[in-house]
This record gives sequence, C-alpha cells and structure tokens, in this order.
Amino acid sequence: MRAHNTALLLQAIWCEQGISRADLARRTGLSRATVSDIVGGFLLTGAVGEYEAAPSSGGRPPIRLRFENGWRHIIGVELGASHVSGVRTDLRGRVLASFQHPQDVAGNPTATLAAIDAGIRGLLAYDASVPVLGIGLGVPSPLPISSQGGLAHHLFPSWQGIQLATHLKLAHSVPVEVDNDANLGALAEHWWGAGRGFADLAYVKVATGVGAGILIRGRIYKGATGIAGEIGHTAIDPDGPRCRCGLSGCLEAMVGTAALLQRAREQLVSVQPLPEWARDELTVQSLIAAAHAGDATARLLITGAGQALGVAMANLLNLVNPGRIVLGGHLTEAGAMLLDPLRTALSERALWSSVEGSELVISPLGDQAVALGAATLLLQAALEDPQRLLPQQPRPAAPLVPFIHAGHPAPTFERSI
Ligand SMILES: [Zn+2]
Repeated sequence: MRAHNTALLLQAIWCEQGISRADLARRTGLSRATVSDIVGGFLLTGAVGEYEAAPSSGGRPPIRLRFENGWRHIIGVELGASHVSGVRTDLRGRVLASFQHPQDVAGNPTATLAAIDAGIRGLLAYDASVPVLGIGLGVPSPLPISSQGGLAHHLFPSWQGIQLATHLKLAHSVPVEVDNDANLGALAEHWWGAGRGFADLAYVKVATGVGAGILIRGRIYKGATGIAGEIGHTAIDPDGPRCRCGLSGCLEAMVGTAALLQRAREQLVSVQPLPEWARDELTVQSLIAAAHAGDATARLLITGAGQALGVAMANLLNLVNPGRIVLGGHLTEAGAMLLDPLRTALSERALWSSVEGSELVISPLGDQAVALGAATLLLQAALEDPQRLLPQQPRPAAPLVPFIHAGHPAPTFERSI
C-alpha cells in the first residue's frame, strides 16, 4: 500500500508543480499524515524540493512542492535504417544534448553498435554530475515479445543473435528499455508534441520503413504478441510491388523511402536527358526538391505516395478512431504536395464520422521524436514505479499505478528556499 501511495504522490507532484501538501492530500485522497511522511522521504532524496509561495494577503504562505526535473537525466537512442541518433533529457523531456551519425544499420551491426556506444558515451560525459536513470532505445523493427529485444530476422538478417538491450546494459551499466520506433514516436508526441491531450492517438512514421504507433487511453497498444501497428505491411494494392516482408502491395512497398527512390530510378530510365537532380545519388530530399521545382516525375511519385498513405490512414481511422494522427518522417517535408492527395483519399475512404472526429498533423518533434520517446519510456516507468527513480522506496506490488499523461502546461516557479 505504501508503494502504491508513493507512486500516486510522485505522479501528482510531477503533474502539478507547486502543489501544497494539503492539496496533495485532497487530490489523492490520502491522509495529511501519510502525505507528510512520504513527501518527507522525497525531500531527503532530492527528487522533490520545496519553496515558499509569494506572500498572500495575510497569514503564513503555504510551502509548495517542486519536482526537481534536473535531478536525474535520461538517454534516448534511435536506431534508424541509415542513421543512429540520441538525446539526453531531463525529467521533463527537455533535450540537453544530442548526437546523430549516418550509419548503414542493416548491413553492418558491428559498426552500428560502435557508433551507438560512442554516441552514448558522449551523452554520458555531457554532465557527469547528474546520474542517468537509464537508456531507452527505439528500433526500426517489429519487436514480438518472443524476440527478447532482437531485430526481426527477415528484415535484419545480419543482426541475428544480437541482443541490443543486453549489449547496452553491459556496455554502460544502466537499465535499458527497447521498443519499436513508431511506438516511441507516438509516446513522445503524446507527452511533448502534437498529441498532447489526445489519449487515443496514432503516430505514423514514413521513412525507409513505415509503421504506426497506436496509443489507446495513453498507453502504447502492443497487441497479443507485441507487433501491433505494422501499418506498413497492410495491403494497399494486392497486385502491387513485392515488399521486403515477402507480401505484395504493402504500404511500405509503395511509400517507404527505399521503395519510392527505387520507383524513381525505374521511371527515370526512360527519361532522356536525365534531369539534373537525378544525376547524383537520389535521396528523399532531392526528390522533394525536384517536385517542388516542378519536375513531373517527382511530383507524380509524391502525390501517389500521398494517395496510398490516405487509403492506409482511412483504414486506421475506421479501425482505431484516434483523436489525432501525427505524421512523421522525412517524406512529410513535401508538405501540401503529399498532404493534399492524402487528405482527399482519406475523406473518400474513411467514414465521415471517423474523419470528423480526427485531425491529421505533421510531427512538430521531427527527427528527435523517436529518441525523445525512448527517453520518455523510462520516465513513464519511473513515475509508475518510483523505485526506479528512488531505489530506497518500496516497490509496488502489481498492479502499478498507471500514469496517463494529461498534457499539463510547463510550470512557473516562484521563490525557491
Ligand atoms: Zn510488407
């Protein structure tokens, strides 16, 4: 019971900076004596501080409590298809330091692990005076529960037998959590980005891979075996191109960046002379720039991707009924050229009541969404199980106190004491 109360109080203080002990008792339904006892323990650790409110019209100003956001830091890392990146955050999701390296992830696990380790060492060295709570890692692979954190063999054959979490735990001596990249993008958007205030939310990442993270009532929905959200492998055109998963006509085989660039190469074969933008190595950025400059081939590819995404998202809307869909990944830099056909297909394919109750927005967190979500995974776990944050606190017996982030505004402080 004490562990349960500890989690309740820690969450309440995190949510409402400046809350008094009396308000904590009212908010949680706990007795004043229990609140004072547990809060006293928080103060001893340094995780919570107190300050005096500005003088009111009379009487002694109440003592207010403050969650110390900088008391511990968290590292979040993203393993992409062609890069590794990472952030170091405080306990309020503020990014304090970051790294990003281009990297052939699928083809070279050894160099990838070395790049991740070097990046993490740099983030750990950023401020040795503040302990790091742990490392969260987002991976571009479905993570069935049975995989124990390993990448899918059919997508990453070179990674067979490599246990990422175990490697990172041994290399850096801190707790490690791993999840799918789109799941973590959804979590980051829900806590800090365009999904704030939307407990039912979908985040769709359009990169080399295409995946969705689905939040239901503020929690990542993983499905029976851990692979929910694989929207990239839903069929858009059963007669469409073969996908790397082995199926045909998957969304990813039509709008994933590797597929899109392959289609561009195929179509450019018959174009003479070859347009200038296609003479160097093709990238999504060069494709988007060419489309914006009026190149017909590039424009058709991007509007076609928008239509295919619209069909997939109509299915998502009808099935899950999210309050918001947040779209991430480099292809979103195409802007209206992608979104207009997407919205048209969406409105033609989804039930009106599904479309009406939802909104499609571009991720404001951009490149850092997944790494930030990876850090958030550890923050959420620490608020639900305070022993992760405060090892001397009792560990709650299951069930934990689920923490649903309600999108509270950033606090302002008065006088510290
Ligand atoms: Zn597929």
